[in-house]
Amino acid sequence: DLALYSAKGAGKDRFALYYDGLQHTAKRQLALESALAQALERNEYSLHYQPICQLVDGKPYLAGVEALLRWSDQGRLVPPQEFIPVLEASSGIVRVGEWVLQEACRQVRDWQLAGQAQMHCAVNLSIRQLQEHDFADRLMLILDETGLAPGSLVLEITETLLMQDSMLVRNNLQRIAGLGVRLALDDFGTGYCSLGYLKRFPLHILKVDRSFISGTPENAESLVISRAIIGLGQSLGLSVVAEGVEEQAQLDFLTAEHCPFVQGYWFSRPIPAAQLQEMFSESGAFNV
Ligand code: C2E
Ligand code: MG
Ligand code: MG
Ligand code: MG
Repeated sequence: DLALYSAKGAGKDRFALYYDGLQHTAKRQLALESALAQALERNEYSLHYQPICQLVDGKPYLAGVEALLRWSDQGRLVPPQEFIPVLEASSGIVRVGEWVLQEACRQVRDWQLAGQAQMHCAVNLSIRQLQEHDFADRLMLILDETGLAPGSLVLEITETLLMQDSMLVRNNLQRIAGLGVRLALDDFGTGYCSLGYLKRFPLHILKVDRSFISGTPENAESLVISRAIIGLGQSLGLSVVAEGVEEQAQLDFLTAEHCPFVQGYWFSRPIPAAQLQEMFSESGAFNV
């Protein structure tokens, strides 16, 4: 371990200090890992759903939802940034990720049957899942069991994942696209993906990262980058979703740029299924 070596070089005392620190971190990590390993059986995971809206003449219409994983640890909702990296490090993400897919597909199929026929479902994937040789087979099984049409499912991946560029991952992505499931490149613009990758992989959607949208329209750099990504997507025949829309001014900017899809707190935070259902039955647009 690098930290350990450099600490050792700095003298015995510092070594001990660093070592305790590492041990403490390792212990906490272990405790978290074991709690997470039991979380599935204990039904501690749930999904929140955030609307993805299509802009028609500047007006947002519900087009789909992104499913976002939540873990309730003794009644406390733990932020994904805290537990998803741990699941990914221990490969627990493969089983949990499969549960997310099952649950999200089932829920969105229910909503479709209840009247939201056109609604699509977006699910985040981890690289670990795409390193499983039977991922596409399992995905097909889930679609079959839940009755969700492949065209109603979007799988979100990141630039980092594409850059691994392994045969296995590439084959899985080809097979997924072959099923008719669409692929979205999440957090686009934050990684180091070369533009060539956008054509090399069977992508359908670009999601402009929140960090760019949050600066619009005041910040000139954010504005230029967001505009360029929306244009890039359109030139490549990809659909574009702007993430993290929080203000009317951002929505106005995106409307002017002809950005087809938007998502963010301005429309709704990620919320439990029942709450989303309520929201749309109240507005009359969601006939359950
Ligand atoms: P993401 O896929 O980019 O998801 C969007 C994140 O942005 C969500 O955070 C959402 O709550 C947040 N967000 C949406 N609109 C706004 C906004 O207007 N303002 C701000 N400040 N934030 C907004 P969340 O739910 O905490 O998830 C964080 C990340 O965890 C996700 O980023 C995704 O990378 C990962 N994640 C979540 N669920 C899953 C899952 O089931 N599997 C995997 N592998 N990763 C997941
Ligand atoms: Mg996402
Ligand atoms: Mg994102
Ligand atoms: Mg993100």
